[in-house]
Amino acid sequence: MIKSLRLGDLCITGLTEIESFSIPVGTLFPDLNHNLLEKLEPIAPRIMSEGLVHLTIRSWLLNKSGTNILIDSCVGAQKNRPNHSTWHKRSGSKWLRALSEKGLRPEDIDIVMCTHLHADHVGWNTKLENGYWVPTFPNAQYLCGRTEYEYWANAGEKSDEHGAFADSVLPIVENGKMKFVEDSDEIANGLSIEISPGHTPGHFCLNAEAGAIFCGDIIHSPLQLNFPNISSAFCEDPVLASTTRIKLLSKIAETSQFLIPAHFRDPGWTKIRKTELGYEKI
Ligand SMILES: [Zn+2]
Repeated sequence: MIKSLRLGDLCITGLTEIESFSIPVGTLFPDLNHNLLEKLEPIAPRIMSEGLVHLTIRSWLLNKSGTNILIDSCVGAQKNRPNHSTWHKRSGSKWLRALSEKGLRPEDIDIVMCTHLHADHVGWNTKLENGYWVPTFPNAQYLCGRTEYEYWANAGEKSDEHGAFADSVLPIVENGKMKFVEDSDEIANGLSIEISPGHTPGHFCLNAEAGAIFCGDIIHSPLQLNFPNISSAFCEDPVLASTTRIKLLSKIAETSQFLIPAHFRDPGWTKIRKTELGYEKI
């Protein structure tokens, strides 16, 4: 039984694709002070153990007054990702089962929004059918930040991002199903876009008036609550990512909202409060 978080008429459920995706701490956070980390490691083995940071790869499914919204679409099935063995040509059955456990088929999703266009956030946008990548969610309006799209469309060699732009983003645009959004756009009643650049140039968060912020990869691991200024090696602009993160965490702590990133371990949501040096979960 998948656990959901209810905030008024908003129901939030995590659809997990990879429960524990582990990355060496020095690879993910090259700037972290290893002496401090050694003290933290025994406290939080689910978050970090044996020098590996454990992340979860999941989508967030929102139901708001009967509208089904998917935030980020994980790695996907049959995607050619030879540089990541756990992402390469996956069968995809686990993620689809999680969706069907909520009583939903891909046809039932109304909106698909990607906080940014990294390969682990856009994969299920498309599925392989007769040799072509076609939209997985045939009735959905897909949403993407305009700045984000333009960045990857013009990024030359970088535009491959493991090939995700070509196989998981362009087919949606070519099918006429992508709508480009800007800062402050409301995608449904009480749900609005907040541009939050740094991790990628057009990264955005989704603000839920009911009391939550879906913040994608603004923060990857709870370790960054202890060290909010530390950006990941995957942040395009680590300094701007840090500024954005610090601003966002401060706002979330002050307003008692739920912080809901893409990669925290289950349940994936938390409230936070300020500590001397950073933040802690409540
Ligand atoms: Zn990312």
